[in-house]
Amino acid sequence: MPTIRNTVAVLKGDGIGIDVTDATLAVIEAVRKRVTGFKLDFKFYEAGAGYFSETGNDIADGAEKEVGDADAMFLGAIGLPSVRHNDGTEISPHLRIREIYQLYAGVRPVKAYRNAPQRLAAPQAKLIDLVILRESTEGLFYSAAVHNRPTILTNDEAQDVLRITRSTTEKLIDFAFQLAIKRKERGGKGIVTCVDKANVFRSMAFFRQIFDERASHFPHIAKHYNYVDAQALDLIRKPWDADVLVMENMFGDILSDLAGGLVGGMGMASCAEIGDQHGLFQPAHGSAPDIMGQDKANPLAAILSGGLMLNYLGERSQCTALDDAGMLIEAAVDKGFAEGRIRPMEFGGDMGTKAVSNEIISIITEQ
Ligand code: ATP
Repeated sequence: MPTIRNTVAVLKGDGIGIDVTDATLAVIEAVRKRVTGFKLDFKFYEAGAGYFSETGNDIADGAEKEVGDADAMFLGAIGLPSVRHNDGTEISPHLRIREIYQLYAGVRPVKAYRNAPQRLAAPQAKLIDLVILRESTEGLFYSAAVHNRPTILTNDEAQDVLRITRSTTEKLIDFAFQLAIKRKERGGKGIVTCVDKANVFRSMAFFRQIFDERASHFPHIAKHYNYVDAQALDLIRKPWDADVLVMENMFGDILSDLAGGLVGGMGMASCAEIGDQHGLFQPAHGSAPDIMGQDKANPLAAILSGGLMLNYLGERSQCTALDDAGMLIEAAVDKGFAEGRIRPMEFGGDMGTKAVSNEIISIITEQ
């Protein structure tokens, strides 16, 4: 089998971002030893609040362009509450990267692993396996401060813009259905739910109209609808019924944190941000300054994001070895919880960042 070679741009960032990235790279190295047929070249870039306080720049010179030349990007976490621009906004070069490379599909898997601690008492909680698909370039974040777009702001009034475009929404909805097809092939439910507020906002009715248009191209996947408020309730009442939930940016921002909480916490929240030509992988959590430098962070969100990156590279380069390697990471996390071998401090367990990643590496090595 020929060896496929891919490059990965790595931005460790700030706080626990550095520790969880190191943990992920160690796990990826372990799967690389187990699965032949691929090689990864990592290139590291300085970025973040720490770098900004040292240099006055939030990302290394030229890095914004260079990271886009890699086959994938991996990010730890960026931002520290103590470091801000003069106008009080956060240091966020990653939001520019998301914008430059139009990473519109924010994929946030939420899965209850066997025997992992559950937040919901209902026995069906162990069946939770869903994905929040968050549009990530427009919606209500279109006028996010970092983009510097004109909004109405006077002494008496402030208005932000919620933008839904046909081109991005069509691509997002297609992505949702294709994801549901892939999940169905692996035992998933084969349902895409359009989460919106189409009964109140014209922009959301437009979103739903495009959902309907595109859904007709995927007859083997069921289409459902839910208003965002009802979806919030259902995520607590019966999250085990959900499969792929597709929604506008701000709704996705909120519901993905809620959903992450259902299966543990932010330390389990993996994330892929995908555009037409680029993919960025990162844990959905921030730099968690309250626990940084203490070896307390749960690295699983980052490690699982690393797995998603290998699946993405596998699909992109038509390399089954890479896809197998991604699945090996997911299987190791599943086995680790099932056998009580992973006990992150985040859930009151006795294992810090290094202990968790070392255990995952042991499981991969013995598989
Ligand atoms: P951001 O706005 O960048 O997402 P934030 O401060 O809102 O940052 P996080 O940094 O994600 O949010 O932290 C939220 C809470 O979750 C904190 O109490 C933090 O300690 C906890 N947390 C986040 N990530 C992890 C992790 N990997 N392991 C354990 N706890 C975590």
